[in-house]
Amino acid sequence: MTDMNTFPWPNGCQGAVSMSFDDGSQSQLDIAIPILDEYDLRGTFYINPRGDDWKERLQPWREVALTGHEVGNHTIQHICTRNFGWGRGKTLETITLDEIEADVVEAERRLQELIPEQSVRTFCYPCYQNYVGEGATRQSYVPIIAKYFPAARGIGEAANHPELTDLHYLSSSAVAGWMSGSDLCRIAAVASEQNRWVVMTFHGFQEEASSGWAPGSYHGSSLSADSFRELCAYLASHRDEIWIQPVLKVAQEIISWRGNL
Ligand SMILES: [Zn+2]
Repeated sequence: MTDMNTFPWPNGCQGAVSMSFDDGSQSQLDIAIPILDEYDLRGTFYINPRGDDWKERLQPWREVALTGHEVGNHTIQHICTRNFGWGRGKTLETITLDEIEADVVEAERRLQELIPEQSVRTFCYPCYQNYVGEGATRQSYVPIIAKYFPAARGIGEAANHPELTDLHYLSSSAVAGWMSGSDLCRIAAVASEQNRWVVMTFHGFQEEASSGWAPGSYHGSSLSADSFRELCAYLASHRDEIWIQPVLKVAQEIISWRGNL
C-alpha cells in the first residue's frame, strides 16, 4: 500500500464516504440535517432552483451551505427519461444537448446568486441519467457537465476507485426507504474494507420506520430517522478509518493527487 500510484486517503483513513441527498426535500431539512449536525457530519445536497420564488424558497439551503454542507447543482427542470410516463413535460429523449446545457448553466447562476460564498460545487444527474436522444441518436451529456464541474454524481454498483473512477459520472449506492440502519452501515463499511469512495444517495426521510418496499414506486418509501441515525453514529465512530466529507471535498482531493502524478 506504499505504492506511489496508490491514492493516499487523508488523515490515515482507508476509504471515504460521502452522503448525498437529492431534490431538496423538506424532510431533509427537518430530519436529516439535524441528525448530521448532531454527529458533526457534512453532506452534499443537490437542489433544483426552479419556480419564480426560487430565491425565497431556497433560503434555508443557504443556511445549510453556510454551516459547511455542500449545496450542489441538480438542474432547474429535472428532466428525466420519457419512460417514467410522467406526462407531457420535457423528456431526455426529446431535448437537445443545448437545452440541457442552458438548464444546467442557469441553475448554476442561481445557486451562485443564492450562495455567493460557495464558488464551486458538484453536479448530480436527475434520475441518474446522463444522455439526450434515444437509440441511434442518443448522446451523452457527461462532456457538458465536465466543462462546468469538478465532479458529478450518478449511480453504479461498484464503489468509486480513487485512481480509476470517472469523476464526472461517479458511482453511488441508492438508499431505499426500507433499508435498516445495519443495511446502511454495510454499504458504508465497503469504504474502509475495499479502500474505496462510497457515495450514498438519499431522498426522503420520515420519523417512523417504513412498512416496506413499495413496488413500482420511484424511490420506495422514505428512510426512517432511526436508520439514518444509526448510520451517522457508525460513521462518527469510524472517523479514524473512513474519511467522511461532501462529494466536492473528496473529488478535489483526488483531482489534486491525480494532477501531481
Ligand atoms: Zn432528483
